[in-house]
Amino acid sequence: YSLLLKPGAPSDARVALRTDMPTDTGRAWTYADLRWTAGRMAQVLHEAGVGPGNRVAVQVAKSPEAVCLYLAVLQLGAIYLPLNTAYTLTELRYFLDDAEPTVFVAQTPIVGDLVPPAGCRTFTLDPDGEGSLTAACRGRPPRERVAEVEPDAVAAILYTSGTTGRPKGAMISHGNLAFGTRTLNALWGISEADVLLHALPIFHAHGLFIALNSMLYAGASSVFLPKFTADAVIGHLPHSTVFMGVPTLYTRLLADPRLDRERCGTMRLFTCGSAPLSREIFEAFEARTGHRILERYGMTETTIIASNPLGGERLPGTVGYPLPGLEVRIVDAAGQPQPAGTVGGLELRGPNVFKGYWRMPEKTAAEFRPDGFFMTGDLARAAPDGRLTLVSRAKEIIISGGYNVYPREVENVLNRIEGVGETAVFGVPHPDFGEGVVAAVERQPGCLSLDPASILARAARELAGYKLPKAVIVQDALPRNAMGKILKNELSALHKDVFR
Ligand code: ATP
Ligand code: MG
Repeated sequence: YSLLLKPGAPSDARVALRTDMPTDTGRAWTYADLRWTAGRMAQVLHEAGVGPGNRVAVQVAKSPEAVCLYLAVLQLGAIYLPLNTAYTLTELRYFLDDAEPTVFVAQTPIVGDLVPPAGCRTFTLDPDGEGSLTAACRGRPPRERVAEVEPDAVAAILYTSGTTGRPKGAMISHGNLAFGTRTLNALWGISEADVLLHALPIFHAHGLFIALNSMLYAGASSVFLPKFTADAVIGHLPHSTVFMGVPTLYTRLLADPRLDRERCGTMRLFTCGSAPLSREIFEAFEARTGHRILERYGMTETTIIASNPLGGERLPGTVGYPLPGLEVRIVDAAGQPQPAGTVGGLELRGPNVFKGYWRMPEKTAAEFRPDGFFMTGDLARAAPDGRLTLVSRAKEIIISGGYNVYPREVENVLNRIEGVGETAVFGVPHPDFGEGVVAAVERQPGCLSLDPASILARAARELAGYKLPKAVIVQDALPRNAMGKILKNELSALHKDVFR
């Protein structure tokens, strides 16, 4: 908390967040405003029984008040537990029973239909910042006291994106956050002169820790969009300096003819992570705007692991170098370190690694080596100079006829075919081969005809037979989660019978 909001700092009068909401056009929140509102919320939460180590579960729309709520929880030394706003009542039930929060803050319609767990107080906070929480703050003095916390104390439980299964609650410590925030500020040269165009959700690590914490720590400002729309982003680009996105957001920006060099005149940095950025998007973006997107790699459990350099060469298809202070190694299945150039499991140890999965001690134990290295579940190779290239998630490797197929290698080939947008390659049961390779292909906007046979004919020129998809499915849109990640689980369930 005191890293992000430094009492009496010169940044007090500076604008921290500027909103652009339909009901509240262009309202500015200074650092002092954030501290004042967060302090009042901290007081209300304290009176509701929230203390160090208690969970405050939150399922609310993105707003400056939601940021204040996050800061209020940190101020109390309690644990912030944000939930995806898309979760249904049934899903919410699971998360609340799992988290046993002292307080749950939700939007009005949800809370009306939900019986909160015993002993849990509920408040509401609506997209416009109103609700019973705001009402309870009125007339209350802001709480001054900031809880003393050990670096090891849990600051937040963030659920993973749920790309490969049910989301897991990762316990992130204050020390994890402090390390990540300081390191990224130095690495990406973030200063109080920056204006971040913030278009990501704030219930995942990317939007909350990587984007928001970095800016608050630097005393910079953010244009705080309630959600991504190409229209809003294009409109705000001309007075911003930094944009942080996921590949799908870049695809959607490129589909807008207004994106050009002139609009990006004040921009100094575009970053991308959470999912693989294709060379095609990287190159198209450079051609249109003159900017080479800085791709980086992270996960909920570790915040950022590696980043392309701000100053040096940003290479498409690579995620750059491990952050200073981390030990990263590539190992075989037995955990033996591999030489440069060999594909293996990526493992790391260091001050960004989380404290474990909430109430899943076996799962936590299974993902750490005895020497303390965390197994990311991602396969990668390292160049002799340490630059990392991600190859696949271990879980996504397809074994077809006894051969390993890396989906990303096939996707890279398909992505180059004219008219093809983003692609997803996955395996489904096959009577002869065990698993058969299937490709789901998104049509590029404006492309009218794209037929599976011609895609296959093109791909066959570059891919060995066993890697070639045995079925190609052309779709208008692939299923994605809140972070814009393609849900291969859903695709393989949907198409599980194509070879039967
Ligand atoms: P779950 O763990 O619930 O299945 P998830 O792994 O998608 O979901 P996150 O923690 O949000 O949840 O995402 C981390 C993963 O995202 C990484 O392990 C990696 O597979 C992928 N990822 C992140 N950045 C990149 C990148 N630049 N390129 C490729 N993959 C990336
Ligand atoms: Mg994961």
